[in-house]
Amino acid sequence: MKRSLKIFIYTDFPSNSLNISEVREYLARFGFQAEDRGNSIDYLKFSDARLSEIAERLSGAVVDDISSDLVKLATPDRARFNSKVNRLRSREDMRGVLYDGYWFQRIFYGGLSERIPEELGEDFLHIVFTGRLFGTFEDRRYHARVVLTGVPSLISTSGLVEAPAKPKEYYYIRGGLIQSGKDLSVLDEMYRGRYVEYDDPKISSILCSYALQVVFYHMTGQAFCDNKECCLYNSHWQEDVLRVQHDGELCERCLELINVLE
Ligand SMILES: [Zn+2]
Repeated sequence: MKRSLKIFIYTDFPSNSLNISEVREYLARFGFQAEDRGNSIDYLKFSDARLSEIAERLSGAVVDDISSDLVKLATPDRARFNSKVNRLRSREDMRGVLYDGYWFQRIFYGGLSERIPEELGEDFLHIVFTGRLFGTFEDRRYHARVVLTGVPSLISTSGLVEAPAKPKEYYYIRGGLIQSGKDLSVLDEMYRGRYVEYDDPKISSILCSYALQVVFYHMTGQAFCDNKECCLYNSHWQEDVLRVQHDGELCERCLELINVLE
């Protein structure tokens, strides 16, 4: 491997369809070596007392009202806190919960700086693949995200399903079906293949592009590519995700850029 960058990959109960080896092999094609560290909580080996604190902070990072920016961690109520301790160690009740992405990242950063301070800095890149859905507050409300760059960089398999929009008619037809009390499964049949599902076999290959995006940002400071055919394009629609992050490749300009990186 020609690169000095050390990439560490962690998991936090991402979709079962995600195959980390596939991501590692993809990054290796561009000369990047990535180590699979497995489940983040297991790897970082926190004491039980610290785990409780982390669970409590994480619980305070849950967004209850998407129209209100979580400027400080919420004080968790007891019932929610107790159930959250278990949630750190399982994917239990993960669906339908939205976390503030920056708080989620800060909590993770706290764990990394406590356990592996010698591995922080620009020669290291920590990527967490999580099943948790997170968002960032912009334009007066939270928006779900697939990726949040930083330390660590977060990539959400649930965000991949929920954040990029489905075709416009999908929402129109869905509204009609709900109003008339009809079964929504018809809709899934109609649009299957036009958006990513929770345990979609396409997830690994799509997230290879997102992992490369995180690496690219770390190395160049450039988050996205403007080329609509490039796999580093900032897709807002599911159809774009399938077209470029799944089926597409790096454009020539990005490939050149990546080839000159040391
Ligand atoms: Zn490009």
